[in-house]
Amino acid sequence: MITVAEHLARILEVVQPLEPLQLSLQDAHSCILTEDVVAPEPLPSFDNSSMDGYAVRAADVAGAGPGSPVVLPVTGDVAAGPASPLRVQPGVCVRIMTGAMMPAGADAVVPLEWTDGGVAQVTITRAPDVGAHVRRVGEDVAAGEVVLESGSHLGAVQIGLAAAVGRSRVLVRPRPRVVVVSTGSELTDTGVPLTPGKIYDSNSIALTAAAQEAGAIAYRVGIVPDDPRQLAATLEDQLVRADLLVTSGGVSVGAYDVVKEVLSRLGTVQFDKVAMQPGMPQGFGTIGPDSTPVFGLPGNPVSALVSFEAFVRPALRTMLGATPVERPRVRAITTQALTSPPGKRSFLRVHLEVKKGAYVVTPVSGPGSHLLAGLSRANALALVPEGVEKVAVGEPVEVLVLERRGL
Ligand code: AMP
Ligand code: MG
Repeated sequence: MITVAEHLARILEVVQPLEPLQLSLQDAHSCILTEDVVAPEPLPSFDNSSMDGYAVRAADVAGAGPGSPVVLPVTGDVAAGPASPLRVQPGVCVRIMTGAMMPAGADAVVPLEWTDGGVAQVTITRAPDVGAHVRRVGEDVAAGEVVLESGSHLGAVQIGLAAAVGRSRVLVRPRPRVVVVSTGSELTDTGVPLTPGKIYDSNSIALTAAAQEAGAIAYRVGIVPDDPRQLAATLEDQLVRADLLVTSGGVSVGAYDVVKEVLSRLGTVQFDKVAMQPGMPQGFGTIGPDSTPVFGLPGNPVSALVSFEAFVRPALRTMLGATPVERPRVRAITTQALTSPPGKRSFLRVHLEVKKGAYVVTPVSGPGSHLLAGLSRANALALVPEGVEKVAVGEPVEVLVLERRGL
C-alpha cells in the first residue's frame, strides 16, 4: 500500500507540460501563455469621444449653465470609423459619436444630455472641463507595454485584450487531448433500455466532463466490454489522438478485471493499492511509442471521480502548464463527527459553506463508493489524513474546494 501523496508524486514525475504552440485566440482560450504579449500601438490608439455629444473648445462653453445657455453652430458630424477631416474652429462645434476620433481643435465633449440635441446649432446648458469625455491615446496601454506576461492564464478578458492589441495568434501550451474509455461488460449507453444485470455507463460521461472542466479537450470513446483483445485494440487505436488516456473499471482483483492485464502488457503501467477511501486500486504508467500517460481508475463511480480529482486533474493541470495543479484547500469546522478507516486518507463528501465568517462542513453522503447522488450534493471533499480516524464536532478538517458557488 502506498500513500496518496506518493502516488501523486510518482504521476507528477512522469507527466510533463505540453510543448507550446501558436494558436488562434479562440483556440488559446483557457490556455497558459508562454510568451509576453506586447502592445505595438497604444490603447486607445487615438483620442476619441467616450460619449455621444458635441466636440467643442472648452473655453467657448465655459460660461454655460442652466440659466446661461451657450448656443454654437454645428459644422459637421463625426462618426466612429473614418478619420475625421474636420477641424473645430473657435466658436463652433461638431456633433460626435462614441468612439469617433476627436476632431482637431476640440478639447472636450459635451454629452448629448447637456444639450437640446440640435443639428444645425446646439444649445448647451452645462460646461465641460478641458478633456471631459475624451479617451486619451495610451490611457489604457502604452506602446511597447507588456499587456500579458508569459505564464498568464488566458480567460475571456485576457484573450479580449490580446485581440485589442491586434494579436490573432499567441504562443501557449495547448490543451491536453484526453481519451476516456470505460470498461465493463455490464455497461449500457443511455438511451437504450437496460436488460437484467446491466447498468448505464456514467463514468465515461462524468470523466469526459471532468477532463473538460480541468481544461482538456476530451474524447469519450465510451464502452469497451471486459475483453482483453477489444480493450487492447481500442487503446492502440486511440493512442494517435491522446496526450493522456483514462480508463475506468477493471483494476481490482476480480476474474474479469482486464484493464490490469492489458495495460500491464502494453506499457509500463503499475497497479497499486493506494491508502485512500474511496479509490484504493489505481493504475498509472505510460503506453505506446510516445510513452503516453495512462490512468486506470477504479470503476465505482465515486471512486473514479475522486481518483480523477486526486490524480488526473493535477496531471492535466501540469500538462497545461497551470499552477497550482491542485484545487484550493481551506480549513473548515465540521458540524458532524467524521470517521475514517485506519491508515487511509478519506475523501468525504461534504457541503462547505460560510457561517458567521467561518468555513463549516456538513457530510452529505455515506462513504459507499457507489453513492453517486451523494457526491452530486457535495461541493467539497473533506480530507481526513491517514493517521486520523475521528474528527469530533467543532474540530477543524482540511477541505478540497470543488466549486466556488455560493462561497
Ligand atoms: P470494476 O472496477 O470494474 O470492478 O467496477 C466496480 C463497480 O463499478 C461495479 O459495480 C461496476 O458495475 C461499476 N462500474 C464500472 N464501470 C462503470 C461505469 N462506466 N459507469 C458506472 N458504473 C461502473
Ligand atoms: Mg468491471
